[in-house]
Amino acid sequence: MGSKPFQPIMVPPNAGIVGMGTQKARQGTEIKNREHNDNFIFTGDANLRHTPAYYVGIFNVSDQEQRIERPWVMPGKIGKVLIVPACEPGQRVSRPFLIPDIVQMPVDRVGSWELGTRGVDGKFLAQDAVNPEDPSGNSKTVRTVLETSLANEGTNLYHLGLFWATCGPTGEDAPSDEIVALAISRLEATYNRWIDEAQTLSMAGPDGVRQIGHTHRMAANYFGRSFTWNIRYEKKNQCDNCGNPMPVTASRCYQCKKVTNWTRAIADGTATVEEAIKAGVMTAQAEDLGKRAGKKKAAQKQP
Ligand SMILES: [Zn+2]
Repeated sequence: MGSKPFQPIMVPPNAGIVGMGTQKARQGTEIKNREHNDNFIFTGDANLRHTPAYYVGIFNVSDQEQRIERPWVMPGKIGKVLIVPACEPGQRVSRPFLIPDIVQMPVDRVGSWELGTRGVDGKFLAQDAVNPEDPSGNSKTVRTVLETSLANEGTNLYHLGLFWATCGPTGEDAPSDEIVALAISRLEATYNRWIDEAQTLSMAGPDGVRQIGHTHRMAANYFGRSFTWNIRYEKKNQCDNCGNPMPVTASRCYQCKKVTNWTRAIADGTATVEEAIKAGVMTAQAEDLGKRAGKKKAAQKQP
């Protein structure tokens, strides 16, 4: 599958950090932040003078955007929040959130006025964003199925479709099909767990049903499934021959087999050209349809 080259648009804001994050953000990261000087603004960013050899991209296979608060993200309009866009319909993965190979971080030197910096591996930061509880892990070491405890489901974003991979300086070398397939299987495992959970709740009476929420329905919709707790409605027409309800997009009634739109029925494969001719559809129309639909067959018959 071809993947579109992407624009490394989010690079500059990620190239350094400033002082305080919120309590929650500090707890979410292994990086020791400067806790005693919240006026500190880090500006001596060595990355401004070096072109990264590669980037670490955080990608998303889910159609849900993820916002992750981390103190090492340069504050933008919405603060120290890292936004990994949703995967757009028809795309293999989302546009990535890009982190340079090395990010310069401020270092406290006890007893010194100097503000030092040290380089932190961009891969470490990416992993810190996707699953802070496993700082040395990556997309290949994460377990596909969560074990007995779902306690860290909320922070382990590998299970919600995220993963990181290195990419070239201009964003080439997008993640391999293998790594994307793994991310999809993890996401689907999560959705299946949510569906199971909703099924259990739906059997527990009204109190259970009330606990079924957006995430459960999102999981059901992902698979296009209808459940009593997630009924999907489809606009229906009535067959003008037998009265059977049929989707507005249907070209042929599956009950009485009446074709409602020959052009579409032949294009959809619900009717053949021979049937169209036998059915006494206007000759010119049938020939026209035959000409179009038969092009391939005729080409195959040529010696
Ligand atoms: Zn019918």
